[in-house]
Amino acid sequence: MEQLPIFLDIRDKRVVVVGGGTAAARKADHALRAGARVTVLADSVNDDFKEWADHPNLTVLSETPRKEHFQGAILAYGAAEDREIDLKVHALARDAGTLVNIVDSPDYCDFVTPAIVDRDPLLIAISSSGTSPILARIIKARLETMLPSAYGRLARFVGELRGRVMEAITDGPARRRFWERIIDGPVADLVLAGATEKAEATLNSELEASRREAARPTVGEVYLVGAGPGDPDLLTFRALRLIQRADVVLYDRLISDCLLNLVRRDAERIYVGKMNRDHTMPQEDISELMVRLAKEGKRVLRLKGGDPFIFGRGGEEIERLAHAEVPFQVVPGITAATGASAYAGIPLTHRDHAQACVFVTGHGKNGRLDLDWKTLLQPAQTVVVYMGLSMLPELTREFLARGADPNLPVAVVENATRRSQRVVTGTVTDIADKVAEAGIEAPALTILGTVVTLRARLNWYHPSSAASDEGDCLHAMPFDPVETSEFA
Ligand code: SAH
Repeated sequence: MEQLPIFLDIRDKRVVVVGGGTAAARKADHALRAGARVTVLADSVNDDFKEWADHPNLTVLSETPRKEHFQGAILAYGAAEDREIDLKVHALARDAGTLVNIVDSPDYCDFVTPAIVDRDPLLIAISSSGTSPILARIIKARLETMLPSAYGRLARFVGELRGRVMEAITDGPARRRFWERIIDGPVADLVLAGATEKAEATLNSELEASRREAARPTVGEVYLVGAGPGDPDLLTFRALRLIQRADVVLYDRLISDCLLNLVRRDAERIYVGKMNRDHTMPQEDISELMVRLAKEGKRVLRLKGGDPFIFGRGGEEIERLAHAEVPFQVVPGITAATGASAYAGIPLTHRDHAQACVFVTGHGKNGRLDLDWKTLLQPAQTVVVYMGLSMLPELTREFLARGADPNLPVAVVENATRRSQRVVTGTVTDIADKVAEAGIEAPALTILGTVVTLRARLNWYHPSSAASDEGDCLHAMPFDPVETSEFA
């Protein structure tokens, strides 16, 4: 960290701004809004100053900067845009022990003014430590779109009730959980929607409930969250919120490092992965572990690849929780079939090709596939096979033996939605050989049906082949820069 971020209380303190142009006006504006008494030194000031012509805290002096101007001032800005004057300001301020900022001259700044997102009283300041004002401003633009303007109201609402909640819930961790529930739940939604009275009533009953709860041992909660097929941008907002709230996370093989990096740094991580045929932790033990952790009062995140209810055994896990009366919630995720379909340019249904789509598991029992072949061989239908890579030769043989068109198109998608995604296409006759030749490995998904031919025209996803130290982590968020600058 090259600089110390702090928020300075400058109410009734003196701030000196040297210059009368736009940059000077902006500094004076911020200082006045933060309650300072501002002295502007300039021969003349431009129209930007008109707005505060009568502001009681603003004094404009047409004087050359002198030692006395800086004595007792807390901050000084050199914005004369005249090198000689600005350097003099720097020297005078230093002599007076006043922190100084010379506009657009990082080498002459004791402090920088960050890009800000203002949701008064909530204030977000962004600095790139002078490396890239543009990056700071792009991040500002992202935050501006993420935080509704009503967040200011939410911060005020919370601020006003803080004292009362502090008295009512004396236990620190319990109070933290209470506020998390309020700020990340229906009460906040009500405040953001402008229904402040209703929000306060809901908060009061939550407070009452918390008091009652404090008398009993606290039970945590389990979040069964679908993490999607790999690209972190495909998480839902809710998934991301819960991922960042959890105290402990149970994850398996399908969860990539970039997803795990989203978990709170201080959260405990437990690998409960299942290797094919070599289960590191039996299903019952995973469920037992979740029950135990939740009963210790922890917020347990069970992170699953794709969707938890599609070949994910999520149902079994929460049956056990329901039995043990542990509260839980389930967050759907983008399942491998829809992820692979989108990122491989293969629509699963299409007017001219398929009016139905079936998901099946190709997991063999004793080396044999036990599937309802009649259903799978229906015309005008797409079949997606999960977990079937090792059984692919058997699957395609069965299809042919039961009368499938030998030219039926098939695609196998490896590492769908990730940077390392690969797609092999062929027909039910040759796909098994092609896949073996390409050395495709799990996780991979097989798509059978004439929709596969559409890929020739619809294949849009070309993960950059450029070497990346981020591995499979993708960041596809579009930027939307707006005007503002860290040094302006
Ligand atoms: N619940 C998961 C599926 C778990 S079963 C979901 O909804 O996606 C595991 C199988 O899912 C794998 O064998 C593979 O067939 C498929 N799969 C999961 N992630 C995948 C990915 N990124 N690319 C291709 N196939 C994937």
